[in-house]
Amino acid sequence: MQFIKRDVLKEKPASEATLGFGKYFTDYMFTMKYTAEKGWHDAKIEPNEPVRFDLATTIFHYAQGIFEGMKAFKRKDGTIGVFRPEENWARMNRSADRMCIPQFPTDVVQEGLDELLRIEKDWIPSAPGTALYIRPTIVATRIMLGVHASTEYLFFIILSPVGSYYAHGLEPTKLLVEDYYTRATIGGTGEAKCLGNYAASMKAGEEAEKKGFDQVLWLDAQEKKYVEEVGSMNMFFVIDGEVVTPALVGSILPGITRKSSIFLLKEHGYKVSERRVSIDEVIEAAQNGKLDEAFGTGTAAVISPVGEIEFKGKKYEINGGKMGKITQWLYDEITGIQRGEIADEYHWIHQI
Ligand SMILES: *Cc1c(COP(=O)(O)O)cnc(C)c1O
Repeated sequence: MQFIKRDVLKEKPASEATLGFGKYFTDYMFTMKYTAEKGWHDAKIEPNEPVRFDLATTIFHYAQGIFEGMKAFKRKDGTIGVFRPEENWARMNRSADRMCIPQFPTDVVQEGLDELLRIEKDWIPSAPGTALYIRPTIVATRIMLGVHASTEYLFFIILSPVGSYYAHGLEPTKLLVEDYYTRATIGGTGEAKCLGNYAASMKAGEEAEKKGFDQVLWLDAQEKKYVEEVGSMNMFFVIDGEVVTPALVGSILPGITRKSSIFLLKEHGYKVSERRVSIDEVIEAAQNGKLDEAFGTGTAAVISPVGEIEFKGKKYEINGGKMGKITQWLYDEITGIQRGEIADEYHWIHQI
């Protein structure tokens, strides 16, 4: 793979304690181009520097683009580990299909990512709760107006050393149940990690933040009755001892942390159900003291406890506003596997 070196390396962040999320970017990026004539070609690693685009480029007007989120860790044995990357590539190609973007060769991008991580290994933080966040993205690059799928694309991977996703770390989050705006509909793009989904969710997110909430808890668009997910996390509830998560009905993003959590919980004997969960069921459980725990799952936030939800102007505290037992166990288990402190029994770690 071609490697274009930069003359001067960037200064690394001064402290791992103040990384935040998505603020710093490493020296290099992986890029690959697509044209109708050549297919995917020109895979290389080059300096991560500003790139020039004509303002008539498709991505700026019609948001024909998709992304992924993964993490690389410094493991206990000194190797670099990436959590289930093959799952991300498979999902990215499913997102590509939904957005009329050509399928990409997963072996080429994995090789590119491995090489990029080897070059950037000094950027991987090691403090607990930190990681090197990996952001693969595809954008449509043809210069033309008109709503048609582009014939040219750019695939890129950029890297960002990160701490915790929320400013308050592992403190339980406060969620506002959104009963007006919707995130996704059946037949829409909710299952795809496509750019437009996130732009469409910002208005509700901003209004929730103004009221002091961390994120919005979305309901289904048709009936505004069933819980779907949070903007960047899938949702789990522990109701009367049963772990419940909304079934993937077509409008929910199929999270890899969600899938891994369901698997781990079942392996360790917990009762887990994937089914429709109405907001009324959650509220009723909270009122009757049967909502034991609630948490979100996602690469960025890992396992994130929920301490309070508000629905129709009423607040409901969960587990005294503290992280629950199952939530803590799952957090320790997943981060333990990622960091190599717990054996990787299920071969989830891609080692470099
Ligand atoms: C990325 C994402 C998730 C979490 O998926 P993971 O594969 O676990 O990172 C959940 N919901 C939405 C809307 C997302 O974009």
